[in-house]
Amino acid sequence: MDERIFETLFLVGLFVATIIRSYYGVRFRRKEITRAQKEHPVVFIGIAIWGIVLILPLITIFSSWLTIADYKIPVPLSVVGTVIFTCSLWLLWRSHVDLAKNFSPSLFIRNNHTLVSSGVYKRIRHPMYLSFWLWALGQALLIPSWIAGPLGLIAFYFIYLFRVEREEQQLVDYFGDRYREYQKKTGRLFPKVL
Ligand code: SAH
Repeated sequence: MDERIFETLFLVGLFVATIIRSYYGVRFRRKEITRAQKEHPVVFIGIAIWGIVLILPLITIFSSWLTIADYKIPVPLSVVGTVIFTCSLWLLWRSHVDLAKNFSPSLFIRNNHTLVSSGVYKRIRHPMYLSFWLWALGQALLIPSWIAGPLGLIAFYFIYLFRVEREEQQLVDYFGDRYREYQKKTGRLFPKVL
């Protein structure tokens, strides 16, 4: 099997993800923010590295600059990576659709912000962040490079660690008991086992 097929799949996924993010990014209006929570500085560093993480596969695929970091990925693992990567894209799309007007790229509460607890938010509170975790894992299994592969997992670990707590606190402050009840019924990334 020609292993370049997995790199091609990654490129297609990157294109699809860019369309999803751009579409919802363009619809986002800064004027409609009513509350803003400061991000932890580590999140900015994580986001900058995440940007690099998305560009590195292009360098790996289209140039020989990073050949020193190449490794071989067994085909069955890349097949698993393809499944994970596809789930990531589906979840990225669905979480944007379900959050709809409540989506924002940072810790913002919008005018008329509503609590979303249906669709992919029914059992987990952070499906979009789960999609980023799955993306990073999928990328590590599709792109055969120590530099372009696992770096995404490290970058997103820091973004997640330093953002999720603040985001939930902001939602508790705004929605009060309604968000606390929602927390009781759901898990952060995996459904709560009762
Ligand atoms: N952490 C979520 C959403 C990321 S987008 C996820 O991983 O799916 C970030 C914005 O979504 C923040 O401004 C936050 O206020 C908002 N948000 C997060 N969960 C929400 C929910 N259940 N209902 C409404 N808005 C939510």
